[in-house]
Amino acid sequence: MPAYTADQLHWKAVAHKVAEEVVRPQAKKYDELQQYPWEIKDAMAKAGLMSVWIPKEYGGSGGGVGSLCVVIEELSRACGGVGVAYAVNALGSFPILLGGTEEQKQKWLPLIAKGEKLIAFGLSEKFAGSDAGGMRTHGRLDGDHYVINGEKKWCTNGGCADIFSVFCVTDPESKAKRISALLVEKGTPGFTLQKQEDKMGIRCVPVNEIHFKECRVPVANLLGGKPGHGFKHAMQTLDYARPGVAAQAMGLACGALELSQVYAQKRQQFGVPISSHQAVGFMLADMATKVEAARLLVMEAARLVDARAEGITKLSAMCKLYATDVAMEVTTNAVQIFGGYGYMKDYPIEKYMRDAKITQIYEGTNQIQRMVVARNLVKETTELDFLQKWIPTEVQRGGIEPVAVIAKA
Ligand SMILES: Cc1cc2nc3c(=O)[nH]c(=O)nc-3n(C[C@H](O)[C@H](O)[C@H](O)COP(=O)(O)OP(=O)(O)OC[C@H]3O[C@@H](n4cnc5c(N)ncnc54)[C@H](O)[C@@H]3O)c2cc1C
Repeated sequence: MPAYTADQLHWKAVAHKVAEEVVRPQAKKYDELQQYPWEIKDAMAKAGLMSVWIPKEYGGSGGGVGSLCVVIEELSRACGGVGVAYAVNALGSFPILLGGTEEQKQKWLPLIAKGEKLIAFGLSEKFAGSDAGGMRTHGRLDGDHYVINGEKKWCTNGGCADIFSVFCVTDPESKAKRISALLVEKGTPGFTLQKQEDKMGIRCVPVNEIHFKECRVPVANLLGGKPGHGFKHAMQTLDYARPGVAAQAMGLACGALELSQVYAQKRQQFGVPISSHQAVGFMLADMATKVEAARLLVMEAARLVDARAEGITKLSAMCKLYATDVAMEVTTNAVQIFGGYGYMKDYPIEKYMRDAKITQIYEGTNQIQRMVVARNLVKETTELDFLQKWIPTEVQRGGIEPVAVIAKA
């Protein structure tokens, strides 16, 4: 168990109660209906959960990313869809927190903290997923408005959000300052919700295309008040939000593990509980070890994010990568432990596996996380120069033979 702060323990208990009393009993219903669980959202808002990651000066509880992760884990233990339906509000509001002007923070964050407004994050496009910088949605300055044209793909919360953090190209000629972030309100003329996706998992949260046609957004909604900082804000947002995806994944893994523990203790084959067959016991042991390791990594990443520490990009990517791979492995093994029952929609375990898959894909696929980690490892190598003398001399020279040696040969 990580060394939780008093604040985190408080939110853990609050979220656990909501998860067990309101979320778990309704998880199957909303998965089948593929409908946003408004009553669950109301219960979360009533319990104060929507305020957790928002600083106190903007109407929040000031729990930071650490408490956010604790809440996401608890909710996801009961339902991964509810976990992301909640977490996406942090994803959507981080651009305001990280890049907004004081006025923008004062205007929008208290509404989100109270649960009065839901927010979504519009970065990805049909032709710009992993390569988000290749986006085409365009914002043209026209007097005191930006006029947006284009479309965003897979906007989580799309069908129910009131506010959208939208990234678009405002200076196509610039390399470094090409992209800006604008806050778009539902109902703005020219903004439309389009295709709602029919998904494998996280089915209770709507994921939509959002389209913009000559959509006029006041300049006052330009995040930070200056154009050209959108891509930086998007990348910083992902550093802050990835521990949340990792917490969703780890919550799913933990929920599947707990059900498997109970099942393996009750299910008898060959006259004994299947947990006493070593093959099953060892599976459970590996699952539990990986869940605990993921939890420690997530909470350490969250702690560093909250401390505004250097180098959070690497740890944030690492925890997302590790916890989501663990989630896929653990939920798949949970279905295995449940045997034939595990494959049936009558029982909740198959849903954990379906819900887990997306965590390896969104907010940067795990291939992209590995690229981020690998890139950071290369950067850090200069700090390891003192170890050079311990590697072969010819390798130290970069494979280039000194001229004198070649001449002699
Ligand atoms: C359910 C769902 C919800 C989502 N919610 C949101 C949201 O709220 N907001 C938002 O902005 N986006 C959202 N997304 C988009 C999501 O972030 C993207 O799907 C993701 O970043 C991957 O982009 P892509 O699907 O276009 O895949 P691609 O980028 O086309 O990648 C396809 C495959 O190629 C691999 N690949 C690509 N480039 C490289 C590379 N350089 N090296 C190695 N492998 C590579 C990928 O890892 C992947 O396996 C959501 C997606 C889904 C499915």
